[in-house]
Amino acid sequence: MPELPEVEVVRAGLERHVLGSTITRVDVLHPRPVRRDPRGPDGFAAALSGRRIEAARRRGKYLWLPLDNGDALLGHLGMSGQILVQPPDSPDETHLRVRLALAGAAEGRELRFVDQRMFGGLSVSAGGAELPPEIAHIARDPLDPAFDDDAFVAKVRRRASGIKRQLLDQNLISGVGNIYADEALWRARLHGERPGDRLTRTQVVDLLAHARTVMIAALGEGGTSFDALYVNVNGESGYFDRSLHAYGREDEPCDRCGAPIRRVAFMNRSSYFCPVCQPVPRRRKALAQRVAAD
Ligand SMILES: [Zn+2]
Repeated sequence: MPELPEVEVVRAGLERHVLGSTITRVDVLHPRPVRRDPRGPDGFAAALSGRRIEAARRRGKYLWLPLDNGDALLGHLGMSGQILVQPPDSPDETHLRVRLALAGAAEGRELRFVDQRMFGGLSVSAGGAELPPEIAHIARDPLDPAFDDDAFVAKVRRRASGIKRQLLDQNLISGVGNIYADEALWRARLHGERPGDRLTRTQVVDLLAHARTVMIAALGEGGTSFDALYVNVNGESGYFDRSLHAYGREDEPCDRCGAPIRRVAFMNRSSYFCPVCQPVPRRRKALAQRVAAD
């Protein structure tokens, strides 16, 4: 699944390649990716035709292209989505779903939405140029210059829920996916089930800094493949293989202490952590022992 750094790479690529372009034609090749648009596939196409793309913005993992009439083309990559800028004569991708022909700055190119599993999609957000109302509830991400560190730290420390659950709460902080959460927690030596209201201010500040470091490192690596003409994204950036300390490393030795990394089920996914560097919170341990004794 594309995480925030990959989505930011796509945003930056769109900014470079399609700004100032006019959408001349829209082909919806499969209705599912435009299912969130109340106008339906034809209405979606009509709402975009003739519009000029003014900017490329992002909130969390949502991207939007403000249009010259105050609306916006809003997109989410879902599990497997890609946004490509291609010359029209390049062969259609197997999972090509929506094609936008461009004129002007990106004369003779196409913006293509490719998505195998189709959890992602595109829609036209009425009046959404500044911030689409559909995503106004999503919090800023920690790479956003307007992210409020103090407010985040204070909110985390008021809540009893586990710190990993809070890191994944899009109303509190966006863009920190499962992988980056596990990596940031490993670096901060915190178990994901530590309750927010039991953490010190320093611990939360430190964790936020680690989340940023991990995301910026991924952004740097994702950016290296980006000078090409086309914009590309997928969930398999080189970062995944080279720089992970916890995620996906079950039974491998912890890079800090050598203890085997553990995997546990978490919200239909997995959490990876070092049981020595990131001890299970005492309250939970006591509860588990009591259950075992019964
Ligand atoms: Zn360790």
